[in-house]
Amino acid sequence: MIELIDVNFEFQDKVALKDINLKIDRSELAVIVGPNGSGKSTLVNVICGIYAPVSGKVVLFDREDYSELRKKISFVPQKVSSFNQLFPISVKETILLGLVSKRGYFRSYTKEDMKKVDEILEMLALSEVKDKQLGKLSGGQQQRVFIGKALISEPELLILDEPTVGIDSKSEELLYQLLLNEKKKNTTIVMVTHDIFAIKDYADKVICMKDGQILTICNAQEFSTQKYKEIYVND
Ligand code: ADP
Ligand code: MG
Repeated sequence: MIELIDVNFEFQDKVALKDINLKIDRSELAVIVGPNGSGKSTLVNVICGIYAPVSGKVVLFDREDYSELRKKISFVPQKVSSFNQLFPISVKETILLGLVSKRGYFRSYTKEDMKKVDEILEMLALSEVKDKQLGKLSGGQQQRVFIGKALISEPELLILDEPTVGIDSKSEELLYQLLLNEKKKNTTIVMVTHDIFAIKDYADKVICMKDGQILTICNAQEFSTQKYKEIYVND
């Protein structure tokens, strides 16, 4: 489903990813952990095709060409919730925009689209605020809106970069239930998180990063609190 072979990435002269080799299977929920600056966001940006590797290969769905692939991928970047404070667009319109990026062009929404957006609003407990402007919502609600925008296009691959940072526990619980629901539909999920409980409860695969490299890849049972400390300890 996702394969990275000897992937390297640099910002100017800063090495951000070094010799990354990685496989993620279909319907897997893979979690990426590691301290700040270890390369987690860079890695998910490379997987999405936003950053092209300096060397190495990224193969998704057995293909290397991103032009068609983009429609199958939804990405919720890190800290999306703070940039749109002044953007005069409603919750419902924002979620619908997820369809535009999948189609690659804008056209009027169909009845079916409107039905789908209502279902998503309901599922994310956002029905009551659907006509409000995004900037008027709490951080947790905003994050849920962006997850709704990612889900409406029914992606085969859903990538989330620290989706639970700054959100309340109710939103967090809702998010995890939603991810489990997506998994049942065979969606592959890659999530960057520091949340050790999420890792233990939900992850199929844990990818531990440090200094732009993968330290270990293990399953949730093997991922002990000790290992968590090892990764996060500063040397
Ligand atoms: P993480 O998500 O694990 O906190 P990042 O992938 O954001 O880490 O960053 C990895 C490294 O690359 C860090 O040293 C960071 O400072 C650097 N970096 C990230 N984005 C940029 C950028 N746009 N320009 C230059 N350096 C960057
Ligand atoms: Mg990051």
